[in-house]
Amino acid sequence: AASDVYKRQDSFNTLVHTLVDTLHSQKSHRKYLENLTENLDLQELSEFALKNLMQYAQASSGALLIVKEGELVNTSTYGIKEGILIESNQIVLNTLKTGERKIIDFPEDIILDGILANYRPASLLLEPIKYNNMTNGVLLLATATAFDESFLGQLDMFMRSFSLILNNSLQHEQMQRLAALDPLTGVYNRRFGLNRLTEECSRSTRFNIPLGVLMMDIDKFKLVNDTYGHLAGDRIIKRIVSETQRILRNGDIFIRYGGEEFLIILPGAGTDNAYKVAERIRYAISQTKTIYGDNEIQVNVSIGIDSYPDSEVTEPLDLIKNADNALYAAKSSGRNKTVVFSSQLRQ
Ligand code: GH3
Ligand code: MG
Ligand code: MG
Repeated sequence: AASDVYKRQDSFNTLVHTLVDTLHSQKSHRKYLENLTENLDLQELSEFALKNLMQYAQASSGALLIVKEGELVNTSTYGIKEGILIESNQIVLNTLKTGERKIIDFPEDIILDGILANYRPASLLLEPIKYNNMTNGVLLLATATAFDESFLGQLDMFMRSFSLILNNSLQHEQMQRLAALDPLTGVYNRRFGLNRLTEECSRSTRFNIPLGVLMMDIDKFKLVNDTYGHLAGDRIIKRIVSETQRILRNGDIFIRYGGEEFLIILPGAGTDNAYKVAERIRYAISQTKTIYGDNEIQVNVSIGIDSYPDSEVTEPLDLIKNADNALYAAKSSGRNKTVVFSSQLRQ
């Protein structure tokens, strides 16, 4: 069994040594670190680090919590009772605040009793994950026996390397997210949205699930800009997005397709459902007044719909083209309405 433990520690030791070398900034090792960072996403990185740290510390349960977009998120746990929200535990939050390591030995201090799994741990370690003097996460480890000094000594070094990799990974994730989002509204941009549409289409055809597509455009928006100015226009666009988001459900995909034009993908929605959603959105927007200076501005939208398989389409872009034709029909027949594509509209 001892050799088993040794073997399991092997991969971790390799990582630690490489990281230590990296800290001494040899070029080839830096390269290795970069590769490691690029290849591991946050989830994999967390699981890998936690698993190895637990083996190394001979811990029986543990968790990694990381601040993402201002929120503490539990990225990986092991051996911890289900349904326990470690991320809102006071002692964990305290570590985040103080940025200081804390070791709680039981049973003197049993505040955390009940947090952990099927046994009562002897010792609990709360380790801040620090980068540039900022604490951006907490590592939690529980052991059946006290932590030994040599482990705690190595831990400093590991945490330095880990936080470096973690920070790269977080930045990478954020950059990818930003590349997918429209800066004004925070919804998907067109490029990313079209990729999502392609994915949803292949899922729909493979599993025979309906797919509704809405094309929505603000009515007479040029007039609004001309009357109240471009900044007022921008505010209205944001407001329309938030009103629409209140109606959309998890799994629906909201895309800013053009300046004042939005594409909404509704997985699972046939024509009838898509029409209901569209009308709910259209009505909600028609009832909304955006305050800008002394003005209360009200705008309407027109929506065109197409959906698979009610409409026979062979490729994703056809859904958009058809929804666009339906939108055009809505505009030319008076605006502030929803029109479903039909083959008579085909141009
Ligand atoms: P219709 O009812 O036919 O859609 O009329 P419309 O005036 O909305 O249509 P048109 O396409 O002629 O004009 C769209 C206007 O939307 C023109 C452009 O100035 C404005 N617009 C596009 N993107 C933005 C944006 O990001 N911010 C603001 N404020 N205006 C935008
Ligand atoms: Mg337009
Ligand atoms: Mg318009």
